[in-house]
Amino acid sequence: MTASETNKNELLSLKGIGPKTAGALERLGIYRVEDLLHYYPRDYELYGAPKPLYQLTPGQTEAVEGVLVREPVLNLYRGMRIVNAYLADMTGRLQLSWYNMPYIKGALKTGQRYVFRGRVYEKNGRLLMYQPKVMEAESYRKSCAGRLFPVYPLTKGVTGRLLQTAVAEALKGQSVREYLPEEILQRQALSGLSEAYQGIHFPKGKEELLRARKRLSFDELFLFLLEGGRRKRRQERQASAYRCRPDLRLIRFIAELPYSLTGAQQKALKEIMADMSSGRIMNRLVEGDVGSGKTVVGFLAMLYAGLNGFQSVLMAPTEVLAEQHYETVRSFLNRGELPLSAVLLKGSMTAAEKRAALERIRNHEADMIVGTHALFQQQVDYDRLGLVVTDEQHRFGVAQRYALTEKGGAPHVLLMSATPIPRTLAGILYEDLALSVIDALPEGRREIKNCVVGPSYRKTAWKFILEELRKGHQAYVICPMIEKPEAGEGQELPETTLFGTEGLENVTEYAERLRGMYPPEIRIGVLHGKMKAQEKDQVMTAFQEGSLQLLVSTTVVEVGVDVPNATVMMIENADRFGLAQLHQLRGRVGRGKAQSYCIMINTSDSERAAERLEILNHSNDGFYIANEDLRLRGPGDVFGLRQSGELRFRIADIYQDAELLQAAREESGRILSEDPELQEHRALLERLRHAFPEEYRGA
Ligand code: ADP
Ligand code: MG
Repeated sequence: MTASETNKNELLSLKGIGPKTAGALERLGIYRVEDLLHYYPRDYELYGAPKPLYQLTPGQTEAVEGVLVREPVLNLYRGMRIVNAYLADMTGRLQLSWYNMPYIKGALKTGQRYVFRGRVYEKNGRLLMYQPKVMEAESYRKSCAGRLFPVYPLTKGVTGRLLQTAVAEALKGQSVREYLPEEILQRQALSGLSEAYQGIHFPKGKEELLRARKRLSFDELFLFLLEGGRRKRRQERQASAYRCRPDLRLIRFIAELPYSLTGAQQKALKEIMADMSSGRIMNRLVEGDVGSGKTVVGFLAMLYAGLNGFQSVLMAPTEVLAEQHYETVRSFLNRGELPLSAVLLKGSMTAAEKRAALERIRNHEADMIVGTHALFQQQVDYDRLGLVVTDEQHRFGVAQRYALTEKGGAPHVLLMSATPIPRTLAGILYEDLALSVIDALPEGRREIKNCVVGPSYRKTAWKFILEELRKGHQAYVICPMIEKPEAGEGQELPETTLFGTEGLENVTEYAERLRGMYPPEIRIGVLHGKMKAQEKDQVMTAFQEGSLQLLVSTTVVEVGVDVPNATVMMIENADRFGLAQLHQLRGRVGRGKAQSYCIMINTSDSERAAERLEILNHSNDGFYIANEDLRLRGPGDVFGLRQSGELRFRIADIYQDAELLQAAREESGRILSEDPELQEHRALLERLRHAFPEEYRGA
């Protein structure tokens, strides 16, 4: 039996999960029971106490209690069957309507007390609810009122209810084994593991949720640091088989670049070359703001390896970026007369193309290999792989960061990150890495002009964008959502939630709106994370070539894409993004010669949101922004829309959990200094094996 079959059987052993459901769960990255427990809700729906009619507020999702005044009626309207019922008390009247749910008519009894929950609308002075959820008043009070109901990211074939049932089964069936030593639980005031799973999936209240979140965030950070610490110790004892020696051809090549390297680039390159020449294995992170010229430094390191007879790999998080890099590498190689050659390896190549590429790698015809992480999912035989460069490493998951460095015979490792994070945090998160900081931009860049405005400015912004497009430039509009939340399970999707998706713009409708408004010659593309890799590539390529002028996108576009002709970045619901993420998004413009602009639409009326956005408004410096972000955010903010999380932790957020990170660092350090091989901590060791499997399985 293969490993994946064993895993599937584990899920199949849960009551209610058949092969089809197991297949659907796989699409959510759930392969094992453990993955299921770690599949955390993205939000929680808040069920309030039922209100009397006069307290209902249009636009809000509310629970209302009352007695039906007369028999519900079934009407036919444009082919739809609609059930209408009326609720009334001394203070007012409410119409309830259900579409294509005729059975509801039979289920409702006149004279009975019910609670109806749904979004309240006002039409011609009358209050309405569409598709409200119905419960008997008594049972609503008992089992719903005051509770939080999790909202999970879903896919076809997987409902929230199914996930909840499966998680409940998993928690019931096998006892969750605690792996943290008792003294850590005590010292850090953490709840037990099974209690934490219970609390994150079935919180009885906000307190319990917060406790659960704290424990699970701690674990995530702690395990990450523990694994990093172990690797660091192991590698410090290891000599490198890929010791490089200075080569004049590289120096000449650098001198012949069309620009001269900035001081910061030179310093980083020097540090890298010193590492690669030292006889030890390099483990270095290059951190630099967007556009600071990291990629060039990575290329030069690859040339250095190549000139020393070693292969090198450059890994990018998307195919678009991989292709972009491959072209750059090729133009590099064409310029200088270096005896090196490059090859591109990506998931969407034909079998024949792939075979040819793999062959060239195997017999060392190719010195520099550029690709997506598909590179490491398949069997690639390298010949003296001396260096692995990961671009935009913050886009890879935490487990991947380690898995990617395990391949080949302990090559040098160079990571590049465009997320400037404050030094205090970097010192912990990257403890196992040496750090080079590129803290200056190449000369001659024009500062991006920023503005933070309210929704009433939208029309002006759209007009401004149109003017820029007519000048031959391109633009981005970013929305936080992919589409309008769909009604699921016969109900309207909850909109009053703890962290809320209410009032958020979505790319699907936004693009339609702009298409209707702009002249037809303006071509508008849509990009989001649910599209197939190939569709995404097509859209990105069209945008890069200029056949699309405007791209309406979610934050997927954040990854290092380089379209110098784009001059406007408009960000909807900017108040809902983390500052670091906004800064990354803004970095998509300001890459060419023309003046660029960033328009942030602030849809919140909170003073704090304004204060946060003001930081971006008056600064384009990523490190400054990161520091302010840390200063302004505290443990008080619990969730938000998913932050662009450095290293993509599942639940922890290094800014919000900065204190927890510190605590996790102390605990992991303590354990490793007493028991470096974790001989005395078997359960922990077992947990680490699961959390950081050798075999990498995709994002
Ligand atoms: P990053 O990866 O840090 O976001 P890139 O390496 O993509 O930045 O560089 C951004 C742009 O700046 C590229 O078009 C690159 O050719 C150019 N560039 C890099 N270094 C310099 C330099 N020293 N002087 C001028 N332009 C540079
Ligand atoms: Mg880059």
